[in-house]
Amino acid sequence: MASESGREGGLDAPTRHPLNQNDPKFWDEQELNRELERVYDICHGCRRCVSLCNAFPTLFDLVDESETMEVDGVDVKDYGKVVDQCYLCDLCYMTKCPYVPPHEWNVDFPHLMLRAKAVKFKKGDTKFRDNIITSTDLIGKMATAPVVSGVVNAANRSDTLRGLLDRTMEIHKDARLPQYVRPTLRKQYADRKGNSSAERKVLLFTTCYCNYNEPDIGASVIKVLEHNGVQVSLMNMEHCCGMPKLELGDFKTVEKLMERNIPELFEKARAGYSIVAAVPSCVLMFKQELPLMFPDDERVATVAAAFNDPFEYLFKLHKEGRLNTDFKNQLGDVSYHVACHQRVQNIGPKTKQVLELVPGTTVNNIERCSGHDGTYGVKKETLQYANKIAAPIVRQIKQKEPDHYGSDCPVAGRHIENNLDNGRHHEHPMELLCKAYGLD
Ligand code: SF4
Ligand code: SF4
Repeated sequence: MASESGREGGLDAPTRHPLNQNDPKFWDEQELNRELERVYDICHGCRRCVSLCNAFPTLFDLVDESETMEVDGVDVKDYGKVVDQCYLCDLCYMTKCPYVPPHEWNVDFPHLMLRAKAVKFKKGDTKFRDNIITSTDLIGKMATAPVVSGVVNAANRSDTLRGLLDRTMEIHKDARLPQYVRPTLRKQYADRKGNSSAERKVLLFTTCYCNYNEPDIGASVIKVLEHNGVQVSLMNMEHCCGMPKLELGDFKTVEKLMERNIPELFEKARAGYSIVAAVPSCVLMFKQELPLMFPDDERVATVAAAFNDPFEYLFKLHKEGRLNTDFKNQLGDVSYHVACHQRVQNIGPKTKQVLELVPGTTVNNIERCSGHDGTYGVKKETLQYANKIAAPIVRQIKQKEPDHYGSDCPVAGRHIENNLDNGRHHEHPMELLCKAYGLD
């Protein structure tokens, strides 16, 4: 398919436009439907993304089963069926689409889906369940309270209670929910001061997931950084980054969370701290999504510039000759799932590059979406698709029989583990690095 300029796709570096959520047109449903029709029509003529997720097959089935077999034959009421299948992994934008801006066709499929989700949320057309399961901070605080954590974790394993959750909340009874761990990561490290004379200082944004569900991952980031002479501290008050609420289209809560986190992050960024988080979606939220929502906010821009993926940070140390490469243990074969939200940061294969500094280590990159999306992989109506999307990753790991497997995204790692179902646990690459240093 050629554009009016005669080009097959864009040749310039892809870019993204601000969301423009303050423009009344953003919320106008007719305008939105016109834009959905325009982009759906381009996708129907292109179909490159058919294998990425369930959004595109849903769209193409709607077109192919319509009377005209074109987008004009699809009932506008069905446009949302496509939107509901998109979990904003960004892979179509990042890896397939030749028509992303600055191409004149200006196709940013994930951000169009995001706009449609926001309009839907504003209309109040969102399930109670989805409001609850995206409140990661609130659930984490409640589920890690004394006594409660034991009850929640036991309930997660009880067939009767899971059946009830399936019927009342539409959380699939076969979805493996995360365990809630006490003490949380932030409690474990609450009293620490770190080495204040260190030349390099990192503020660890612990993330809801590492704080409440897998604190060992956050602890491994702290150990690795301190082993490299970096002072690590935590925020005085940390709130959810807002990504789960963004994916729901709840922009008001995203803004509230931004206003709670940004002042302290800004203060630390101005004081020369680098900021690191061990969940790529949280890093992406601060590096890309918030700057596109609040393009005129200098605090947001300063924080974005200070934010790092943890392996991006370690690779910078390596480039400066400051990374400790005195590894004690080799890792062998590692099957490593590259998280979509890390890929979209455009930082290159930093995790692989750092892990392969460990002697006796081979890293096999798996560049496919795991399909978990945090909530897509637990909902009654979508778990089957999340498992289908994970299947090629699971197949590759089974074939390789690696010494270790894992993902930069711990939620993806857990989803892969559930689908592998062979009793072997996923390991975050930072936990592997701890092992290599002999710090575990
Ligand atoms: S962002 Fe991800 S889930 Fe959404 S349409 Fe693109 S590939 Fe599919
Ligand atoms: S998002 Fe881009 S690459 Fe994917 S089907 Fe649509 S036009 Fe094609």
